Parts: sequence; C-alpha cells; structure tokens
Amino acid sequence: MTSFAPEAALLRAAAKKYERDMIRFARELIAIPSLTGKEGKAVARVREEMLKAGFDAVRIDRMGNLIGRLGRGKTQILFDAHLDTVSAGERRDWRWDPFKGKLEGGEIFGRGATDQKLAVVSIVYAARLIRDLALLGDYTFWAVASVMEEDCEGLPLLHVIQKEKLRPDYVVITEPSNLVLRRGQRGRTELAWSSGAAPATPRPRAGDQRRGQHVRDHPGSDGAQRPPRRRSLPGQGERGRDPGRVEGAVSQRRAG
Ligand SMILES: [Zn+2]
Repeated sequence: MTSFAPEAALLRAAAKKYERDMIRFARELIAIPSLTGKEGKAVARVREEMLKAGFDAVRIDRMGNLIGRLGRGKTQILFDAHLDTVSAGERRDWRWDPFKGKLEGGEIFGRGATDQKLAVVSIVYAARLIRDLALLGDYTFWAVASVMEEDCEGLPLLHVIQKEKLRPDYVVITEPSNLVLRRGQRGRTELAWSSGAAPATPRPRAGDQRRGQHVRDHPGSDGAQRPPRRRSLPGQGERGRDPGRVEGAVSQRRAG
C-alpha cells in the first residue's frame, strides 16, 4: 500500500501558511447568507478568491454554478461543494449568531459551515497549494461551487455534466462524512400517498405525479454506509400497511 505520509506532511506545512487566509475566507463566507436560490453574493465572493488562488479560468455557468479550472491535462478531476444552505431557522435556537462564523477552539461554527462552505474553502485553497508546490501534471482540476443543491440534490452537477459539457473522470463530492472517505451515500426516497378514491394507476411509475402521487427514487451507490432507517407514520406499524389509507408522507432524507 502506498504511503502518502511524506506528501501529506508537505501539504500540511504548505497549507499552514494560508491558515489565516482560509479562516478569514471561511468566516466571511458564513457571514454571507446563501439560501437556496439566493447564492449570488456567496458565488461572487468565492469567485474573487478563486481568481486570487490562481485558477486558469473561472466562470459562472447558466445555472449559476461557479466553475474554476486549473491545468489542461488529460484526466479530469472534479471537486464539488454546494454553496447554498437551508434556513437558519429561529434565531433563538442558536447560541451564537449563525451568520458570523464563530471561531472557538480551532473550530468554526455557523450556518453552512459543515454543509459545505468550509469545503469550498478547502477546494479553492487546494488549487493554491497545487500551484505553490508545482503539483500540476497531466490532469485538469475542476472546482465547482454549486447552487440549489439543497433543494434539488444532484441536479446542479447533472447540469454541469450534461449542459456545460464537463466530462470528469473522477468526481469528489465534499458532503460531510466525518472526515472519512465514502464511496457514495445511502440515497433518498420520497413517497407520498393521499387517501381517497383508488387511483387509475395502481402502481405509479417513478416521477408520476398524477393524482397527487409522487415517487422519487435516488438509489444509493455501492458504497452505501448502512440501510436507510425506516420511519413509520403515527399509529402505523410495519405490518399490515394499507397504502390506500395512509395520509401524509414518509420521507427519508439524507444526513447531508
Ligand atoms: Zn450538503
């Protein structure tokens, strides 16, 4: 097995030089609210930092995703982090300002810190380190700060691949995984039934939205960590379920 220890030590030492810059950038980014669909200011801030980091080209695509390119080599490696966040909810539920980037004990706290603004910082500064340490080779490093990921997961990258014609050989999604490399996520399925007259189509196809029925299925990849937890509706056990009588929805959301 190859040991990456010497390279890792080298990278860590080089990154240390930018510690203050990265912390400042991270805190500034958290201080810019970027709810899904309102990421414009955050995109502008990251763009500025990408240009400083020495990307060869930086552009905003037709969906609003920010795409940075470094190098022109054969193997295409894409790193993605989404910039949008869910709402911060009630201010009183926070023990600190969610839009300040609280720094304490070597950690940064705030809405979107883990999911995934700090990952954006890492990707941008990775490019800087690649330049500093002359690590450019026969590969192209793509950094994507995507938008609208919280609402339509997967769609921004699908856009980047299908419409913007990026054809990555490898993709690294920087969703939080507790610093453990994962090969995929467990996926997400949303099911909703409504009560009433029996529908004309007893088994709706995926994506069928007739009669208020809606089935979406995003199966996990082979690296799924564990089977999804099952959640029963109030008063409803696992046995004897009668879909015709179920009101409400069962939703299995991913952790990220
Ligand atoms: Zn996320």
